Amino acid sequence: MKKTVVYIRQSLDTDKQKNSLEMQRSHCLEYAKQRDWIIDEVYNEGKCSARKTEMKERLHLNRLLNDCKNGTIGRILIFKRDRLARNVEQYLDILHQIRSCKVELHFAADNEPPLFDGVVSDLIESLLAGIAEYEGNNIVRRLINSKKTAASQGRWAAGSYPYAYIKKSEDQPGVLAIDSSKVKIVKALYAFAKTELCKKETDFKTFFESVKKNKVLKELDEKQVWKILSQPLHKGIMSQTIDGQEFNEPASHLRIVNVDSWEEVNAVLALMKPPSGVEKMIEEDEVVVAKLAGVVHCATCREPFTVTPKMYKCKTKGCKNSPHIERVDQEVLVTVRNRLLENGMREWETVRDQLQKMIVSPFEKRANSLRLEIKNLEQNIVENVKYHVKTKGVIALNESFVETYREKMSELDFIESRCYSIKSFVQSLTKEKELERVKKEGLKPMEINYLLQIVKRVEYRKGIKAISYIHNERKGCLL
Ligand SMILES: [Zn+2]
Repeated sequence: MKKTVVYIRQSLDTDKQKNSLEMQRSHCLEYAKQRDWIIDEVYNEGKCSARKTEMKERLHLNRLLNDCKNGTIGRILIFKRDRLARNVEQYLDILHQIRSCKVELHFAADNEPPLFDGVVSDLIESLLAGIAEYEGNNIVRRLINSKKTAASQGRWAAGSYPYAYIKKSEDQPGVLAIDSSKVKIVKALYAFAKTELCKKETDFKTFFESVKKNKVLKELDEKQVWKILSQPLHKGIMSQTIDGQEFNEPASHLRIVNVDSWEEVNAVLALMKPPSGVEKMIEEDEVVVAKLAGVVHCATCREPFTVTPKMYKCKTKGCKNSPHIERVDQEVLVTVRNRLLENGMREWETVRDQLQKMIVSPFEKRANSLRLEIKNLEQNIVENVKYHVKTKGVIALNESFVETYREKMSELDFIESRCYSIKSFVQSLTKEKELERVKKEGLKPMEINYLLQIVKRVEYRKGIKAISYIHNERKGCLL
């Protein structure tokens, strides 16, 4: 029997999570699973720019095409067209090679139009590949600024180097190396923070006082302590904002502490006030300080609280109901968790399904309407191409049309990757034992956000007075 295989490649220039090798792989595996196909092999090109790399240098693609010619492959799964090539000519060349071997080609990304067949297929395929090429060129244009280019290539371009890093060599500006004399301090500080900051309920000032008493760490000042703990490079992500543009490049060779420790410490830091003069570094959309804004109400006045930097506050004059945000959010989380644990022990599968529906459905609604818009746009492409074929006109890409198509696609990508991460979160809570993960220590900030989304309304005054959940239409909802 002929093999079903997967081909994945990550580009260098857009290191978005949506394009990560793991994401591509799992989409392809899921696609195969839904069709009862067994994957025989994954051809992994790793990180490799389709634009800058010559065809002959793409070893795994060449191996794949050779295996097609040898007749051992029946079916290839890739995430999207742009994984094969970033220019029209190359794409069509590869496509022809695959087709001449009578090998099926499938795209696993939901929003990627399937391969077109028949007379106009080359034209439509070249149009779609043209869109991918346009995107590629557009990225280059956006990175014209040299600092941005440097940042995108994992070089440091945002001023003085973070703690524990030095220049690798004189002639390569921005290329960092770990300063081995400081590694010990960084590791000790995170370890110290894990016990002294995460396990005890304390504030940053008190924590810093205990840092001063530690003999390895006593040289650090308060700002340094904050900056070291909140520096994403220590977990292997080079995060820089240049001219308002954010760059997050993986830099695992510069990792000093493991990701879990970093996340654990930063989940706690996110709730704290930084020392004066330090800008809070928060990964966008990872941490929302008041997670229940608009949901928590004053139990006396029945009005939603307003949010100040640290407190929820009742709007009513004279009502002094003003609890700490972190206290309320934590209490609600514990209540949600207890409810889940309670119900989960009885009938976890049902709870999990409901949880998934409730959290995912707002995203899916948007995704569905986007899919419809994209489908209409694609219908237009087809009509256009048919028209041009009939009249033998020249096909020209309409830039504003391409722009709309690109925007819709990229929003859909974003929403899909968000749905994907929510689903895998819910899926990860499979066995009853693993429900223990729902305890706060076992959850990432983003996951806490997901869980709190099922809370519809809370009434609060010196504790939770009433809580209601977003219910499913179905009868017998356990949540
Ligand atoms: Zn009130």
